[in-house]
Amino acid sequence: RFITFEGGEGAGKSTQVRRLRDRLAGMGLDALMTREPGGSTGAEIVRHLILSGAAKPLGPLAEAALFAAARADHLDATIRPALSRGAWVVCDRFADSTRVYQGVLGDLDLRLIEALEAVTVGDTRPDLTLVLDLPAEEGLTRAAARSGAGADRFEREGLSFHRRLRDAFRELAEREPERCVLIDARADADTVAEAVWNAVEARLRP
Ligand code: C5P
Repeated sequence: RFITFEGGEGAGKSTQVRRLRDRLAGMGLDALMTREPGGSTGAEIVRHLILSGAAKPLGPLAEAALFAAARADHLDATIRPALSRGAWVVCDRFADSTRVYQGVLGDLDLRLIEALEAVTVGDTRPDLTLVLDLPAEEGLTRAAARSGAGADRFEREGLSFHRRLRDAFRELAEREPERCVLIDARADADTVAEAVWNAVEARLRP
């Protein structure tokens, strides 16, 4: 089973990814936690290139191609081998983040994004995507509190960026209700984890 978490900055994805992995593992299931960009040796190198700002001279298409390269390696080295052995894979961000960040916010033609997605992802689509939803003001505050001076270039963006981000993720979840579940991420981590678990139980029956 392949489960992805999506959402804006500061929504609590990494906490929830870890909690879900722990809960599945606690049931005796083979459960792997991973993240994007990154999740394999090659993809972590690309992550560093992108988030450090070293890839800044690149245009939007070249940047999207870098994300696609990282995803291809992550799928080949980490995700597909785990799914093949029957593991549950819980991933912090996946192709939906590219649709939102490079597509909607980066203004890249969605057909290009879809073409890149088709070659990299192929049939390895998530069975379930949990979209952690948070008001833009709160996302901005949480992201700022978390990273301070170490913020990456996206986390340094302002309120209007966070609004567009939230709207784009909500639209995405509405468009694919059979795959996506919108989770209210304003509550405390325990409450959010329960909502996540209810969705996983209802949809995938672990
Ligand atoms: O999940 P996390 O917030 O750590 O992601 C790292 C950064 O990479 C975020 O600031 C996010 O905005 C950015 N990102 C992106 N495009 C993607 C995936 C992540 O711009 N496809």
